[in-house]
Amino acid sequence: MPELTIKDLSVGYTADSTAVSGVSMKITEGSVTAVIGPNGSGKSTFLKGILSFPGIHSSGLVNLDSVDVRSMKRTERARRIAYLPQSPLVPAGLTAIETVLLGRFPHRSAWSNDSGKDVEIAQEALEMVGAGHLSQKFTDEMSGGENRLVNLAAVLSQKTDVILLDEPGSSLDYGHAAQLWKLLSDLAAKGIIILATTHRIEMSGNAFDKVMLLSEGISLAFGEPEGVFSSGDLLSTVYNTPIEVKRSSPHGGWIVFPGGSS
Ligand code: ADP
Ligand code: MG
Repeated sequence: MPELTIKDLSVGYTADSTAVSGVSMKITEGSVTAVIGPNGSGKSTFLKGILSFPGIHSSGLVNLDSVDVRSMKRTERARRIAYLPQSPLVPAGLTAIETVLLGRFPHRSAWSNDSGKDVEIAQEALEMVGAGHLSQKFTDEMSGGENRLVNLAAVLSQKTDVILLDEPGSSLDYGHAAQLWKLLSDLAAKGIIILATTHRIEMSGNAFDKVMLLSEGISLAFGEPEGVFSSGDLLSTVYNTPIEVKRSSPHGGWIVFPGGSS
């Protein structure tokens, strides 16, 4: 049963500054956790800190099943944790399926070719995000949203216990976004730990089990959406504008009311 424990994680871009300070959370298998917060609040930095990116200064503890993520060899870590950056590079001259196959690298022995099984997994991943039809298209001839789907598929094809996604829904149309949020719950139901940043506050409530609100690198609230959304003027203060997040009916979906609901 995978469990990700983050304790007192601080992350900075220089040795003497922090962009994220003292974040702690425990995520058990089968849950989908959202990280929300304004631009520059540290969402991307938090994910990079979990992976202790090269060039990043971090302190605190990040354990996956009691093993320090930082002590894992890169390939071993890539077999267990997949990461979708906010703006991945699009390699030129590769088709969608070839790009998705890059996600299979951690599972291959050095210099081996793609196996039929790898191709099958990659195609299946494309279909899971609703992009099966793009398989043979060149990624440098695709739209931003289409590329986002291909990158998501590459992450899925890595077949890890933990998936970190930095704004996975950005550039996606309504239908593909809806498919994505549903997919995250389905993956969680299979025991995968999902941690994703998003600007869609209402979706963080509708599609995620837990929400963490970051502001200036500090976690101001973490827990079930109900609690995070109903803590007084917290959201309005953090986003610096009147905002209310309420259910459409007692058990209905969450809706954001910019300017407040009254
Ligand atoms: P968010 O993802 O919530 O929009 P980020 O985590 O990207 O925010 O940024 C948090 C803070 O760290 C911001 O003040 C930002 O300017 C700073 N920052 C982000 N990336 C870098 C970097 N590569 N070098 C130095 N500072 C950075
Ligand atoms: Mg970001």
